[in-house]
Amino acid sequence: MEQMDGLDVVGCERCDDLCRSRSRIVNGVGPADADLLFVGEAPGANEDEQGEPFVGRSGDVLDDGLRDAGLDRGDVRITNCVRCRPPDNRDPRTGELANCRDYLETEIDRINPEVVVTLGKVPAEHLLGRDVAVTGEAGDVFDVAIAGQPRRVLVSVHPAATLYDPSQKETFEAALTTAAEFTDAQSGQSRLGEF
Ligand code: URA
Repeated sequence: MEQMDGLDVVGCERCDDLCRSRSRIVNGVGPADADLLFVGEAPGANEDEQGEPFVGRSGDVLDDGLRDAGLDRGDVRITNCVRCRPPDNRDPRTGELANCRDYLETEIDRINPEVVVTLGKVPAEHLLGRDVAVTGEAGDVFDVAIAGQPRRVLVSVHPAATLYDPSQKETFEAALTTAAEFTDAQSGQSRLGEF
């Protein structure tokens, strides 16, 4: 793909609105052999400024949740469905999700994670290809084909949801605990043998 350098997208101009609203393209971070790939929606203001996904308040919640689940941010890969900040923090549009889709699929293929963890409704619906009631389905693992490959997708609420609605904190933490069970980073309790 002409606009990828390894796992990074460089110089993409597929979306007129996003080219105008972004300061930079925000690529995924984390090890290329991570067991867990977390997928958010799109960069916000902090991510756009710093060039890294989930570095604002949502990122703090994610980091805390990972730590409570026995993981470190450096153990996992973190990316977004769309790599450029939408104007006024609006949701990414269908066409923008479609334009960025092959970058995400390439990242999923190359990382080949044990589980893709979707953070919020947009990535869950984008990767499962259906309507998702995120709070009800959080913590559930689904087998789906992504770019023709069988993948496991674990649904989670978005970390920001715990800031707006503290009752979501438990749901978020439980999903991360389930995610951690699919890693070797968390000693001795891997669920991989079940699949
Ligand atoms: N929310 C997201 O979905 N992604 C980010 O990178 C930051 C906040």
